[in-house]
Amino acid sequence: MTAAVPTDCTDFAPVSFAGRPAATLASAVTRYGRHTPGHEARVAATLDRLQQAATRFAPRIVLASSLGAEDMVLTDLIARHRLPIVIATLDTGTLHAETLALVPRVEAHYGIAVERWAPPGGAVAAFVLRHGERSMFESIAQRQACCALRKLEPLARMLASRCAWVTGLRRGQSAARAEVPDEATDDAGRTKLNPLAAWSEADVWHYIGVHGVPYNPLHDRFFPSIGCAPCTRAVALGEDARAGRWWWEQESTKECGLHKPHAQGRAEVTAGGAETQTSVPA
Ligand code: SF4
Repeated sequence: MTAAVPTDCTDFAPVSFAGRPAATLASAVTRYGRHTPGHEARVAATLDRLQQAATRFAPRIVLASSLGAEDMVLTDLIARHRLPIVIATLDTGTLHAETLALVPRVEAHYGIAVERWAPPGGAVAAFVLRHGERSMFESIAQRQACCALRKLEPLARMLASRCAWVTGLRRGQSAARAEVPDEATDDAGRTKLNPLAAWSEADVWHYIGVHGVPYNPLHDRFFPSIGCAPCTRAVALGEDARAGRWWWEQESTKECGLHKPHAQGRAEVTAGGAETQTSVPA
């Protein structure tokens, strides 16, 4: 255990910036974005992969967007180049207001529609009635059961009619993602594409800054990785980008089951929710 489990929802409020040096108050673009050698080549390679994927799989290909910074880059590339790739996201019912507000912003900015996939309301109500609102803090199994219901079940429906999906996974996001391949096959035989696998955080934010990409304002408030509100906190300076996700668990158990380990060059979605690890949206 690395941090105390919060006792109520007020613990999830963004950190106070009072007293911090002015430089830390800068936007995420200023804080993390930086041009590095090869950036333009990485952008071109990603666009080429997306174009090839659209040619291979459209209309049965979807960007499973977490609405995080990486997925906003992919959304921009898809929308800017009018690629026939559907953009979809999960509404788990426990997202931050800032995350929910980003969906209509994206739709208005690009003139596109974003699919929203939610868990069955009755099943969620029954789960909460039986286990409570805070069962994710009681055990890894309870947390994974919540992820299975709120994330894996709607993801499975999102993917059911699709042959391929696109994610914003990067190898630099965490040790668990260090082996993320550019392309893999999931358990259902779908092609899973990770066209930002080779990008750095600096690449992501440089692209967002240069192209004026809309993004979640929580990123400016030290939330580099954003998931459900109860399970995401701001990070301290110097902490790993995903340190604010399921922070009370060991690194080895983190992730929500949307993406399985990548050490063997495979990426598998486990829609049944019975797997043991943890990362779409969030
Ligand atoms: S991230 Fe937390 S709130 Fe969201 S589905 Fe998983 S356990 Fe539930």
